[in-house]
Amino acid sequence: MKDISEIRADFPILSRKVYDKPLIYLDNGATTQKPLCVLDAVRDVYIRYNGNIHRGVHAMSDMTSEAYENAREIVRSFINASQREEIIFTSGTTGSINSIAFSFGERYVKEGDEILVSNLEHHANIVPWQMMCERKRAKLKVIPVNDNGEIIFDEYLKLLSPRTKIVAVTQVSNALGTIVPVNDIIKAAHSRNIPVLVDGAQGIQHGTTDVALMDCDFYAFSGHKIYGPTGIGVLYGKEKWLRELPPWQGGGDMVDKVTFEKTTYNELPFKFEAGTMNYAGAIGLGKALDYVSGIGREEIALRERQLLEYANNRLSGIKGLKIFGNSPDKIATISFLLDGIHQYDTGMILDKLGIAVRTGTHCAQPVMERFGIEGTVRVSMCFYNTFDEIDALGTGIEKVIQMFS
Ligand code: PLP
Repeated sequence: MKDISEIRADFPILSRKVYDKPLIYLDNGATTQKPLCVLDAVRDVYIRYNGNIHRGVHAMSDMTSEAYENAREIVRSFINASQREEIIFTSGTTGSINSIAFSFGERYVKEGDEILVSNLEHHANIVPWQMMCERKRAKLKVIPVNDNGEIIFDEYLKLLSPRTKIVAVTQVSNALGTIVPVNDIIKAAHSRNIPVLVDGAQGIQHGTTDVALMDCDFYAFSGHKIYGPTGIGVLYGKEKWLRELPPWQGGGDMVDKVTFEKTTYNELPFKFEAGTMNYAGAIGLGKALDYVSGIGREEIALRERQLLEYANNRLSGIKGLKIFGNSPDKIATISFLLDGIHQYDTGMILDKLGIAVRTGTHCAQPVMERFGIEGTVRVSMCFYNTFDEIDALGTGIEKVIQMFS
């Protein structure tokens, strides 16, 4: 792995100051910062070869189309999908899940059917299913979690029923950091012929994701959480599903032949890419994935485990600090509360010290309710963070406690 100072130099924003203090960015679960090579790749599109994709006969359109399709190939290889036809570009995880919830619901779900999600889910993996359940008069069932913030596997098995149409679970909890045993969840669902969608928004950037090995039916992630641009994401779907599912949007690029009587649809993956896509974003995402591969995904996972261990040691020594989410299988995220101090106050004071953390429910209100709390302070680290930054966080938290004592 590159030296940490070299890595940080790849991310110009990390050397800025806020309130005249060096920025300590610990909100990587919300969005990650972007290396220069990603910014350059996006800029390059607009400076050198911008043309709408798959449309023109001219050189500019050809060059952009080629770069866009190359980005699709980078994504395919990054997640080890077997074919490029299985990679659909979307606006992000939310866009991917909404599309599947709509399309899958239209094709397969009937009154009285059941959709299974877990208590750990981000709203993006709850609300689209709820909306579909309302439309179809189906039921949303919830896998409970234990006090460590882990799903209770036996309860999951009990909830799988002949009426279960799909299981939709997160790979990693954004609120608590728990790594969910998605491989086992998928095996159990598949033994009953139930497909599984995995929300990879917090999983893809923290190690190696192999959809072939995982054997998920659908996988969703966002570019901006893996050092890529905003407004671009991916939906992976097994070819057999994508062939059967109806498109969720109509318009340009997704059609084969249009008459007023009937429209036939384009081949995969274009059947699901209606209208002008965010091709500059896709090209930037391709660059981000190449950057991550260049650093090394195993190396990233190892470094983040070291950061987590260091932060756990530092923070668990602070009196009055309670951590939520204590699974031994966690990404480098720590959700906590300080005794008698509101999470917003903690977050606001840390901010004034130049430390960016997330406060609130983290778009996961049901799991907050499970723990009987209104929210937490969430520290989400990634490989460009340093041990010094964690020390500064520890000192900052102690300052917050002092101010309120
Ligand atoms: N799922 C999880 C687990 C997330 O953490 C997030 C964002 O924080 C999302 C879905 C939604 O991602 P986006 O807003 O990029 O669509």
